[in-house]
Amino acid sequence: MRLVFIGPPGVGKGTYATAISKRYRIPHISTGDMLREEIKRGSELGVRVREYVERGELVPDDIIIELVRNRLSREDCKRGFILDGFPRTLRQAEELDKMTKLDLVLNFVAPDEVIIDRLSGRRICRKCGAIYHVKYMPPRVPGRCDRCGGELYQREDDRPEVIRRRLELYRRQFKPIIEYYRRKGILVDVDASDQAEIVVPRIVEVLKSKGLVSDQ
Ligand code: AMP
Repeated sequence: MRLVFIGPPGVGKGTYATAISKRYRIPHISTGDMLREEIKRGSELGVRVREYVERGELVPDDIIIELVRNRLSREDCKRGFILDGFPRTLRQAEELDKMTKLDLVLNFVAPDEVIIDRLSGRRICRKCGAIYHVKYMPPRVPGRCDRCGGELYQREDDRPEVIRRRLELYRRQFKPIIEYYRRKGILVDVDASDQAEIVVPRIVEVLKSKGLVSDQ
């Protein structure tokens, strides 16, 4: 089952990819995670891509396409994969078509207000990194971590005005990709405005309806 997941920041894409990856034992391949890993390791590739990633700019197509080509040629991708964060340009999409035949592209959608509500309520512990939400997963004592008592803070890019900018950038970047797959007839919109416990079964239903999985 060869899938691509597309969706704006805060839509829960990472959570859904992890759940589907576990359930069907196919790797979740996030190009953002792969690049951050290379940077952390200080590999040759990490050094080449560091500045782009830090500035939030796209890494050149040739580099990212080779990275994905190598990753997809590994044994664990024989039964399928979930690509997350790739493709981001039409050239990447066209090269991906030459590498493999995708079964389905899932486009996760939720109103901006839902995303802003989710991200702007997020609080992170300075000490242990635990994640909370002021409405949906509040700590017992406001502003304090349940686990270690550390101070909770809001990430700079989780502020509403920054989220709006991130959403705009996302729309601009992914619009042509979404159109590309819609024209090919392999794109399905998935409503992701509910909690993950509802969205994950929704994804499973889509996969079943396309004949990609047959479990209960
Ligand atoms: P992400 O975690 O998906 O937001 O990716 C983090 C950063 O990695 C992006 O801002 C880009 O600098 C880089 N990146 C990830 N995927 C790609 C891609 N498909 N093409 C170009 N750059 C990418």
